[in-house]
Amino acid sequence: MHRYNSIIIGAGHNGMVCANYLARSGQKVLLLESSDSVGGLASVREFHPEFKTSIAHSISYFSEKVARDLNLKKHGFNLDAAPLPTIGLSADTNHIVLQGGRISGVANDDEQSYGKYLELIQRFANMVKPFWLQTVPPIGNNSLPEIMSYAHLGMNMRLMGKADMREFLRILTLPMRDLMDENFDNEILKAMLSWDGLIGSKLAPRSPNHSLITLLLRMSGPTAHQVSSASVKTLIEALHSSASASGVEIRTGAPVAEIVIGDGAEGLLATGVKLDTGEQIEADCVISSADPKKTFLDLVGVQHLEIGFTNRIRRLRADGYVAKFHLALKELPEFSGLDSPDGRLLIAPDMDVIEFAYDDAKYGHCSMVPVMEIVIPSIHDETLAPAGQHVLSAHVMYVPRYLQGGWDDQVREAYTQLLIDTIAKYAPGIREQILHHELLIPADLEREYGVTGGHWHHSELSLDQSLMMRPTYGAAQYQTPIGGLHLCGAGCHPGGGLMGGAGHNAAQEILK
Ligand SMILES: Cc1cc2nc3c(=O)[nH]c(=O)nc-3n(C[C@H](O)[C@H](O)[C@H](O)COP(=O)(O)OP(=O)(O)OC[C@H]3O[C@@H](n4cnc5c(N)ncnc54)[C@H](O)[C@@H]3O)c2cc1C
Repeated sequence: MHRYNSIIIGAGHNGMVCANYLARSGQKVLLLESSDSVGGLASVREFHPEFKTSIAHSISYFSEKVARDLNLKKHGFNLDAAPLPTIGLSADTNHIVLQGGRISGVANDDEQSYGKYLELIQRFANMVKPFWLQTVPPIGNNSLPEIMSYAHLGMNMRLMGKADMREFLRILTLPMRDLMDENFDNEILKAMLSWDGLIGSKLAPRSPNHSLITLLLRMSGPTAHQVSSASVKTLIEALHSSASASGVEIRTGAPVAEIVIGDGAEGLLATGVKLDTGEQIEADCVISSADPKKTFLDLVGVQHLEIGFTNRIRRLRADGYVAKFHLALKELPEFSGLDSPDGRLLIAPDMDVIEFAYDDAKYGHCSMVPVMEIVIPSIHDETLAPAGQHVLSAHVMYVPRYLQGGWDDQVREAYTQLLIDTIAKYAPGIREQILHHELLIPADLEREYGVTGGHWHHSELSLDQSLMMRPTYGAAQYQTPIGGLHLCGAGCHPGGGLMGGAGHNAAQEILK
């Protein structure tokens, strides 16, 4: 029987980041991945012969520190790649373009407001940025790390000055709708800017709660309201290559069926894992990047957990509301009024359309007026499609995990045609260019990527499920009620998105 210092379950980007840090510190690390390739939701997916993309289709806030620490540049990932413009598509071709802190396509008032708004939001993003890459300690321990961490946050807030501090607290739980209405007139612009606070969550413009925090998390990268032109594929390849170079042993096609629990001196202890094949592997420490529900309810088993904790895990909200839509295209599509479709294209004419799409999904329906974010990743990575041909990748909000009446082939086909019609309003010739299409609803993502609910963040990133309470108390700070068992995936602080924060923080905590 083999023995390792650490076994990591899941070779998504967080699992690879965590494994790499541990191996660099001298640990013997085994990374086990159930699917046949690494990357999890960011892995390459061939959805039609020679046409590839990934579920996570763009990078907006991958950690500079993680990229530097793991030498990702040397392994082929360029964090400094130019950002793509974000383009709010308008049916009358008066599109709005955000690029490098500048805006075009709006009236003077909105242009000036945008400058002020961006400055303010970036100050707030910089204030909270250090907290994404550190453990947020539990409140009430009065331990030195806790005092230091909260003192640091307090200090950062004080440094902002009284006026900013008040404003930060005022807008912290303000619905996106109010924040946008306070600042802007143009409806498309309001929809575009609110998008970054909503995408991936069960939140709409009128929802109070957490949209500012989601927005600030996304704004922690170098590309405010934009995404990088670097391809997700190169990020995953670099993480893979860097982890291997650090000595991480990576096994794909190795699903973990069970985390083996034994008795330790101070209570229950994780002693290793059992694979689907029955093979058992021992380690001092087991670290799961699978989502919290899967980790505790499936891999640990409720017989090892206290009832109150089990109930909190069961109650975690983890229903995904984002679908992926992929098109294999004969050639680069033309969008009316755009010289090139090279950008992040948003179809969301106003905040009400977003709100109504959300309302439909909330009650188990698909909106007849879907909102979406489109990129064409093959423009910057020619390995994703045959020469001259392209891939269109779209995030569609909001698509319910459970549809009233259920998802059958007919419903899927009707929805697919609606999505194509929606895109065709802005790219009239696209229907004739389509070689193949693929629609992945949250239930497909759950099945194919092993993520409960197919949720972007593995579990909703809302106030009650974030920071020192993420995923829930008793399993926050990358610890769990089982000795030697840790979490390192998107279900932990700071949440999901391609950032590497959870993998980084978990490794630092384990190495303590
Ligand atoms: C539809 C959608 C679109 C998204 N788009 C973007 C985007 O454009 N940009 C962005 O930044 N973020 C995006 N995200 C979010 C981002 O993809 C995730 O938050 C991020 O990939 C999570 O990374 P992770 O490493 O924590 O987990 P995952 O990527 O989910 O990796 C977990 C890994 O664990 C493996 N695993 C699970 N169970 C087992 C087991 N029992 N044994 C072995 N292995 C196991 C899985 O196979 C998987 O490889 C999107 C998410 C969704 C759902």
